[in-house]
Amino acid sequence: MVENKVDILLVGSGIMSATLATLLNQLDPSLKIAMIERLDQVAHESTDGWNNAGTGHAGYCELNYTPLQTSGSMDISRALAINASFETSLQFWSFLTEQQRLPKPGEFINRTPHQSFVWGEADVAFLRKRHKKLSGHHLFADMQYSEDPHVISKWMPLVMQQRDASQPIAATRVEYGADVDFGTLTRHMISTLQRQPGFELLLGHTVKSLKQAKTGRWHVRALDHTTRRLKKFEAGFVFLGAGGGALPLLQKSGIPESKGYGGFPVSGQWLVCNNPEVVNQHDSKVYGKAALGAPPMSVPHLDMRIIAGKPTLLFGPYAGFTTKFQKKGSFFDLVASVKSNNLKPMMLAGLGNMDLTRYLIGEVFQSHKERVAALSKFYPQAHAKDWTLAAAGQRVQIIKTCGKKGGKLEFGTEIVAAKDGTLAALLGASPGASTSVQAMIEVIERCFTARIDSGDWQAKLEAMIPSYKHSLIDDAELAGTVRKRMLNTLGLN
Ligand SMILES: Cc1cc2nc3c(=O)[nH]c(=O)nc-3n(C[C@H](O)[C@H](O)[C@H](O)COP(=O)(O)OP(=O)(O)OC[C@H]3O[C@@H](n4cnc5c(N)ncnc54)[C@H](O)[C@@H]3O)c2cc1C
Repeated sequence: MVENKVDILLVGSGIMSATLATLLNQLDPSLKIAMIERLDQVAHESTDGWNNAGTGHAGYCELNYTPLQTSGSMDISRALAINASFETSLQFWSFLTEQQRLPKPGEFINRTPHQSFVWGEADVAFLRKRHKKLSGHHLFADMQYSEDPHVISKWMPLVMQQRDASQPIAATRVEYGADVDFGTLTRHMISTLQRQPGFELLLGHTVKSLKQAKTGRWHVRALDHTTRRLKKFEAGFVFLGAGGGALPLLQKSGIPESKGYGGFPVSGQWLVCNNPEVVNQHDSKVYGKAALGAPPMSVPHLDMRIIAGKPTLLFGPYAGFTTKFQKKGSFFDLVASVKSNNLKPMMLAGLGNMDLTRYLIGEVFQSHKERVAALSKFYPQAHAKDWTLAAAGQRVQIIKTCGKKGGKLEFGTEIVAAKDGTLAALLGASPGASTSVQAMIEVIERCFTARIDSGDWQAKLEAMIPSYKHSLIDDAELAGTVRKRMLNTLGLN
């Protein structure tokens, strides 16, 4: 017998499920929604404060979003798309703040200038070109550039202390960058949902199986950790927002769209500084260039973080390798995810990425001294005793079948949805939480086709996200109005 019949069943309580539930609850408050989480707390995997870097990715400081082409020209399309996508999140969080569905913004988002810093002739030329190209676009018009050590010392004092004066250097700065405590944000979204009549949160329940009935509805079984009993659920729509746990569940769903996908886990670590004398001297995020052969998510950065209201400094990430798909997952995760339909792409992606394998092995075996030496390139005066190592969250990079090569490793996020719109999953982890609102709107557009075009849902989406159905990249006037409002509401001015 089915114990719980719901309209929407969300697996996982990270930022993705919380965002989708909040959007759907706004669009139709009568929907019955269940959120099932295997841990005893909400948002304690990748979304939790220390498990990610909390960068509101907007393309201001991430140099890998503006690659140089072989022709020598610079492609800024990714930076523009990510900037517009983050602005969608900012609009939604502004709306929720105005509606008092989120607390005072300082509890989850803080103004933290986004800066890039490079040294050496070649990288200075790269940054100069990047600034010229980006600042010509209205979304990046406020980006400042300098090669002057006096100016840069004001922008990032720690980075400039005792730096070799003969070295050519350059930096860019956007004042209204953001540090986001995604864990706190998610916990607030979920506690607001818990006050709505149609919403139920089940903690300490692991989704074990899911099967589609002939009616098209999904039958889901979850193990209750307290009673050790399996509970049965029936849902019209299932979202697998299970982070690293999404791929195994997608495979269990058996939908044809799941075939050929695999995952490659990459773990992360930070150096964390709690010495207040050092912490007080750095109030921004400073991103550099990734080492040769390093994956894009390994770009080194020195960040001020505000987690649960407390400022600290973080440097990293240092990549690592484990076979777990989640921080609190199992060492068998990787092996269990290998199926006959993804074996070939997984093997070929592995063979095609030997650089990454070598890089990860090098990272895993670094000593504290070597890690501090990497930090010293950013902060020459760093003392090993001020910094301790902390484990970050797990990322599961997507491996998928591709035409000629047979298998490729991807570093982005992807939504995999069933053709009939009854199930969707989010795979991958980058740019991640920053673009959660855009990603969840895509889930709604692909899976709720019968309702999305109704006047009611369109009007509600426009009220929540004024730029909905418009392009912030093409419409400078709208971009200006939207940005002004949300910088004020979220206190990023
Ligand atoms: C090192 C690192 C740095 C990052 N830095 C940034 C950054 O600076 N900016 C940014 O925007 N993004 C960043 N990200 C990415 C961002 O953290 C993720 O994209 C985002 O948190 C993913 O949210 P989620 O809801 O999909 O997954 P999660 O937060 O992992 O939530 C998934 C939940 O599902 C639960 N679950 C799993 N399996 C089951 C099951 N079978 N049954 C029930 N529950 C289940 C888990 O316990 C978990 O709570 C970073 C990630 C990492 C790892």
